Amino acid sequence: MKKHNFSAGPSILPSYTLENASKAVAGWEPAGGLSLIEISHRSKEFVAVVDEATQLIKELLNVPSGYSVLFLQGGASTQFCMVPYNLLDNNQTAAYLDTGAWANKSIKEAKLFGNVNVVGSSKGDNYNFIPKGYSLANDLAYFHITTNNTIYGTEIKEDLDVNVPLVADMSSDIFSRPVDVSKYALIYAGAQKNLGPAGVTLAIVKDDILGKVDRQIPTMLNYQTHIDKESMFNTPPVFAIYASYLTLKWLKEQGGLGEMQKRNQAKAELLYNEIDSNPLFEGTAAVEDRSLMNVTFVMKNPDLETEFMAYATEQGISGIKGHRSVGGFRASIYNAMPIESVQVLTTAMNVFAEKHVAVNS
Ligand SMILES: *Cc1c(COP(=O)(O)O)cnc(C)c1O
Repeated sequence: MKKHNFSAGPSILPSYTLENASKAVAGWEPAGGLSLIEISHRSKEFVAVVDEATQLIKELLNVPSGYSVLFLQGGASTQFCMVPYNLLDNNQTAAYLDTGAWANKSIKEAKLFGNVNVVGSSKGDNYNFIPKGYSLANDLAYFHITTNNTIYGTEIKEDLDVNVPLVADMSSDIFSRPVDVSKYALIYAGAQKNLGPAGVTLAIVKDDILGKVDRQIPTMLNYQTHIDKESMFNTPPVFAIYASYLTLKWLKEQGGLGEMQKRNQAKAELLYNEIDSNPLFEGTAAVEDRSLMNVTFVMKNPDLETEFMAYATEQGISGIKGHRSVGGFRASIYNAMPIESVQVLTTAMNVFAEKHVAVNS
């Protein structure tokens, strides 16, 4: 039976990516049939992949000049420390918006390097909304946000206008909509939610924000190293970069990020409409802050959740168990998720509700 993969991460990728990445591992044509993962990362064939992937990112996101595109390792979690390491001096302050577990972890790391001002937090409400109405001092080193809160299903769906350098963890909504990169000093994203396999982390860095802190920075944790060596200071994660490159080609071929945004809005609307109209279910995130990527919902009667999960599994639905800190369900509907799979889920919710309403009346 067809499986519908709603996993939060690692998560669904386009079949174009999976098929062509598999082929390249078995034997890669540009390398004369050797495997992609058994040739030098400095071969002209692989360097061409990095160059083309960089170009595609610049094109898809309309990256202005003065920014560098980097392929790093260590996941988004390493960016939690790399950002303050490079941008926050001991005597400086950075502002953070505490919108979820990942934001919270980034705050913890930043405190190792300088002062942290948490300007807004929704922790007291189990992170079910995005704090607003905060103000930012003019002398901040930067302001850090998490654009999509993968666990709690909330999202900052527009580019913020702020008076200080803006740093964004976009791990789970990168490439889901057009972004005005000029409004950001630094964007980073682990690949495994919306781009490729785990193992590569994308960073888009405004060059002129670097070189301003007094401390020594270890070579591998210094953005400048990777800018100077064009992501080839050491062996990069060749497979993860290649698979991400395939997804980037797919994104362009599908019509780019405007088209992705339209599709993502349509998918999210379909699912939220079902949640709101179905008597058995309710959403957990504040309506205006609902994520287009991770849709979190629970059952009004939690006793039915095991039964619904079993029923959904029978329909081929996979990966909808909610994160333990929210409970219920989470349907992740990233770029590669077709609307037909969302329809399978809404139909399952609908049919399940009809059965139960009939039984109970
Ligand atoms: C998954 C996730 C992370 C952690 O990414 P790793 O690559 O596993 O370190 C960080 N931030 C957000 C928003 C995420 O969704």
